[in-house]
Amino acid sequence: MRVNSRKFKLAIIMFSVFFVTISLQYMWDIRQDTRVLSPQGEGESLSQYQINMEFIEEDMSIKANQTTVYTNDTGKALENIYLHLYPNAFRSKEAVPFEKKEMERAYPNGFNPGYIEINSIKEGKKPIHHKIMGESNTILRVTPARPLQPGEKIQLAIDFKVTLPNTIGRMGYGENTVNITNWFPIVAVYDDGGWNLDPYYAIGDPFYSEVAQYKVTATIPTEYVMASTGDVIEVNEKNNKNIYKIEGNLVRNFVMILSKEFQVREAVLGDTKVISYAIGDIKGEKALQYGLDSLKIFNNLFGEYPYNQLSIVATDFFVGGMEYPNVVMISQDLYEMKEDFPLEYVIAHEVAHQWWYGIVGNNEVKEPWLDEALTEYSTLMYFEKKYGPHIKEQVFEKMIKAQYENYIDLEPDKGEGILRSLREFDSSWEYSSIVYSKGAMFIEKLREEMGDETFSKVIREYFETFKFKNATTEDFYKICEKNTEKDIRHLFNQWLNVEM
Ligand SMILES: [Zn+2]
Repeated sequence: MRVNSRKFKLAIIMFSVFFVTISLQYMWDIRQDTRVLSPQGEGESLSQYQINMEFIEEDMSIKANQTTVYTNDTGKALENIYLHLYPNAFRSKEAVPFEKKEMERAYPNGFNPGYIEINSIKEGKKPIHHKIMGESNTILRVTPARPLQPGEKIQLAIDFKVTLPNTIGRMGYGENTVNITNWFPIVAVYDDGGWNLDPYYAIGDPFYSEVAQYKVTATIPTEYVMASTGDVIEVNEKNNKNIYKIEGNLVRNFVMILSKEFQVREAVLGDTKVISYAIGDIKGEKALQYGLDSLKIFNNLFGEYPYNQLSIVATDFFVGGMEYPNVVMISQDLYEMKEDFPLEYVIAHEVAHQWWYGIVGNNEVKEPWLDEALTEYSTLMYFEKKYGPHIKEQVFEKMIKAQYENYIDLEPDKGEGILRSLREFDSSWEYSSIVYSKGAMFIEKLREEMGDETFSKVIREYFETFKFKNATTEDFYKICEKNTEKDIRHLFNQWLNVEM
């Protein structure tokens, strides 16, 4: 996500004016590498989600039944299996995942609740013991009759209903779009520290998941156009409803954005179709071009995007942009600005997240810097490749460094390490100044220290090694260290405030 603080907005608009004057022509010609990689199942241990859902417009709800096959690949017997119930974070006004100062923008029509109701949970055909728990009831614990042994599978059938709130955050609806994200029960990640059961924090993108296989049947009134994760395999119309069969392979989540106003444009790059969903006809063509440019540049810099489609979706969303697998949500506000630069910046940023978050995952609660700093730096690299190093330098100095320096002027005691958990940030202004801006400054420093060629090798190796997996700061450090003779340990220790 690109935090939409007022100060960032001001910086981005001021920069836009400057940008137009110096970037009238672009000067790039990058050959598209031939595609060498296609998504293949990583074997038996991937979770499988089969979801039948229907969107009910009358009460803005979703009725669904889901079958999830989870394989215990933890190496330990599991007494319980945990899933996140993120929609419950929207139930009470006091606990919603927004900062206090954001409430008015998040709920233009006043607060109203969103939540998930679990009607039944079965293991195969038999009811299974379960409990809804955790902060705001955002965790579902299921307890099989006997512990799930290493290598064993469990099949959970969950029947549920989601009530969407009228909010223009990640999950909810506004005047033009219905944002169906973090909406179904998703298995929590079990890693070296055990189960990760964090609630839906207000700051950052508090998510952590494994890639999985999704087969979704979505029933949607025909007036709506749908953007989604995965590939639409088949559409059938029945009783004024479209029934979509969608498959998503090796993706970390599954989202849908619906609108009656979408104007759709498509273009193909290599084996990937880029689709722009614009509201009305405002800047749909430009958004498509920025999506194509981002895909082309990042394919060349990091390694090939392994999916068949990438959707750039205009949404009722007050926070700038948000990344999901194959789908980036881009605030309609950005399309309506006179300047193009903010739209281009946010699209490049969210598309870069397809590599850092989407394909290479990480714990975005514990180590949010790992995807966010790399993504912010990738956005700089987009401007470098497309418009030339002098433009990258300007964006770096006037936006990234300037934001960090402004923040530190006001909060001189808060400039310590970049590697902190979401819980350790008091505001999204602090979060974005440290994690995005100081984070990108750190990556710039690493690149300077290692040299361009080594840096490029490191990023490509990191991508190739952790594709479809979750990486940690230590994994990233090890790949840097292995590729350079330079002493980068002190840089990590100093900027991240850790002991490598
Ligand atoms: Zn981001």
